[in-house]
Amino acid sequence: MALEGLHHITAITGDAQANVDFYARVLGLRLVKKTVNFDAPDVYHLYFGDESETPGSILTFFEFPGARRGRAGQGMVHRILWRVGSEEALDFWAERLQVQRDGESVRFADPEGLEHELVLARVPDAPLVAHAPDIPAELALQGFHGVRAYTAAAGRSAALLDALGFAGGELAGDERGAVYVYDEPPAEAGIQGAGTVHHIAWSAADDAELTAFREKAIAAGARATDIIDRQYFHSVYFREPSGVLFELASRDIGFAYDEPLESLGEALKLPPQYERLRPQLEERLTPLRNPRTPVRA
Ligand code: ZN
Repeated sequence: MALEGLHHITAITGDAQANVDFYARVLGLRLVKKTVNFDAPDVYHLYFGDESETPGSILTFFEFPGARRGRAGQGMVHRILWRVGSEEALDFWAERLQVQRDGESVRFADPEGLEHELVLARVPDAPLVAHAPDIPAELALQGFHGVRAYTAAAGRSAALLDALGFAGGELAGDERGAVYVYDEPPAEAGIQGAGTVHHIAWSAADDAELTAFREKAIAAGARATDIIDRQYFHSVYFREPSGVLFELASRDIGFAYDEPLESLGEALKLPPQYERLRPQLEERLTPLRNPRTPVRA
């Protein structure tokens, strides 16, 4: 039993349309789910990922319309690492994003300042690729490689990370791995806001694994929630000692649970408890133009 790398990463946007434009059009990810924040249903929760919504490729955003920009500080993830398959892919992205390539890495930020880095994949893990019309599949993003977080006291997190199966900043699952790397924090405190990561979720198979890893986390000192139903997965949340919010999320339900794989992300999907609010929500939520939505005659 091992956690299989990252399941998803959740960040904050103040502008859902600009967010869809950047992640679906510029980065070529697929918008795989358009739903609402289950704790505040009058705002969007948008999910991007590979073509078949595979955990390990899922980047999600809570929309807080007009939210001011935040900045990463102590106890926050400050950069998301993605894999690409070749030197040519690094050149392609440096050119497309109008940034300098730095050796085997390409760094850039989204329109709200969220930092990303593309790195050469040197792992046997399956590439998790979305199909974008103007991005050849061999150059596309291949899913997460990991994240970098800020802490001044990495040692305080060691026991919990050990208990979850991390070794030397790496989580090696049977099929997928991920890195979790700390950097010294900047002097200024972090501010949770647009362009910052809210939490990161590690990938568990099912409720049995969630229960087992929850117990390991608690034994290592974490104050973990019960298992929570998130419609497309079940989740457990706890803060690791640096302050980063961890989630463990299960892989056994998936995003095709309430709509077909072919049309993922096209319709607004609501959990049963909010279906009765659909007319008001559809009126209040800004309609989004998705570059991937097929034009139907
Ligand atoms: Zn989550």
